[in-house]
Amino acid sequence: MPPEKGPVEILREALKQLTARKMAPTPANYKVVYNEIAGIPDLPVFPTDALRGIARALPTANAAQRERKEAFENALDQRSWEVLQKVLVGYASADAGNSAPPARAAAADPARGAASTVDILEPMARLIENTLPALGNDDEKFSKQVDELVKVIRSPAANLATVKSMLGNVSHRLSFAAEDQAEIRATLLKLLHLIIENIGELGLDENWLKRQMDGLMQAATPPLSLRRLDELERRLKDVIFKQIDAKGRTREAQELMRQMLATFLERLAQMTDSTSAYYDKIEAGARLMERATSFEEIAPVLKDVIGATRGMAFDVARVRDELRDMREKSDAAQAEVIRLQQELDTVSAQARHDTLTGALNRKGLDEAIRREISTVERKKTRLCVALLDIDNFKKLNDTKGHSTGDAALTHLATVTRESLRPQDTLARYGGEEFVILMPDTTLDNGIAAMTRLQRALTRRYFLADTEQILITFSAGVAQLDDGESGEQAIERADQAMYLAKRAGKNRVVGA
Ligand code: GH3
Ligand code: MG
Ligand code: MG
Repeated sequence: MPPEKGPVEILREALKQLTARKMAPTPANYKVVYNEIAGIPDLPVFPTDALRGIARALPTANAAQRERKEAFENALDQRSWEVLQKVLVGYASADAGNSAPPARAAAADPARGAASTVDILEPMARLIENTLPALGNDDEKFSKQVDELVKVIRSPAANLATVKSMLGNVSHRLSFAAEDQAEIRATLLKLLHLIIENIGELGLDENWLKRQMDGLMQAATPPLSLRRLDELERRLKDVIFKQIDAKGRTREAQELMRQMLATFLERLAQMTDSTSAYYDKIEAGARLMERATSFEEIAPVLKDVIGATRGMAFDVARVRDELRDMREKSDAAQAEVIRLQQELDTVSAQARHDTLTGALNRKGLDEAIRREISTVERKKTRLCVALLDIDNFKKLNDTKGHSTGDAALTHLATVTRESLRPQDTLARYGGEEFVILMPDTTLDNGIAAMTRLQRALTRRYFLADTEQILITFSAGVAQLDDGESGEQAIERADQAMYLAKRAGKNRVVGA
């Protein structure tokens, strides 16, 4: 066996052979001779490296694509044009039903691939902009986050890694927002059902119904939140319950009056009967007396007439007493109907709200805390609880009178509501003490919110007649701990409030 030739020797030999065989010095002829000398079978040309480059660019997003890519690579391993042709025909037929030619272009040409990604950015921005209104704009922070994302997507130097990470954050929040939207819709539907049921129960008292509709409209004005809808639902349920209860009692009162009327008519009939019996007796007596000729004859007639008169007088007195009794009962029943009507008028406002300030009362607060805590547990968010107590309120009452004190409480509630976010809850905890629930809030932010309220009160003086009075308060703020109850958090806020009083009032202390 001759020793193996090195590439240089093969090259020299090949050139010699080309000349000797008088072959044209083309690359193809050179290759034939070269392979012959080197002992390499003269297979058709197969650009494996270039095809491997294409294989690397093939998409592998799903199982079918991965399978095709594998078949493509097998064809390369076999260096078989025939197998490769089959694979490519497979690709072509798969794409026939696919209306996304850019993907094909992208696979074949990495430069165009980058261009298509950029092309997708603008529709993506539009999609986000179009979807957002459906989720409402209650959450300011989220709206800002989305605005920033859209801005980054549209910027000419959009960095795909940044877009991807921002998109991830937005979709995370979006999942919460979408969940809330679904709950809002379900709650709205439930409310609608309640109203329809209630209309049936009401027998259509227009005024009452109108007030309810107004309340519903008000609660349904943006920003719409689950919290507000939930509160509205509870209010309505309460009203309906009281309405049915009051209606039952009204019916009882009406039944009592109906019975009295029946008794009255019965007595009246009896009285007419006894009256006509009396007249009959008197008339019979008169006739006997006309015919009588002796006192003996008159005496028994007289006795009858006197008896009849006495009976008559007795009947009249009895009926008069019964009538008086009935009138008293009727007045009482009438008063009960009026009272029930008034109760019905105020019950919707009184159920869970303090009538003076419009803030939630203790019952409303208990329910609101329960709701907030279940959200904290469900969504792993934070909740801040603040307790505020007006400073030197007794002095204000003593010097300006109780009704000025009342007006000051209302003023504080109004300014507080204006200074808080829509999702915060204000409740009257006691005489001049208020509790504020601040969802999604850290301790620092809770303290900052109370300090902001202090500043708002220095800007908005309370006016007692024409005198400007500065209302100040001391507050304690606590962030709900893991597993802590609402009462415990309020208790900690109360202790912090007490420290604020001890430290000189008009200040906010964190628990
Ligand atoms: P401090 O700064 O220590 O809180 O002193 P204060 O005077 O505010 O507190 P104190 O607890 O001594 O007095 C609270 C007063 O609030 C006593 C009570 O008469 C009055 N108050 C409670 N509820 C009402 C209300 O509904 N209307 C009015 N006008 N006053 C009320
Ligand atoms: Mg107090
Ligand atoms: Mg006080």
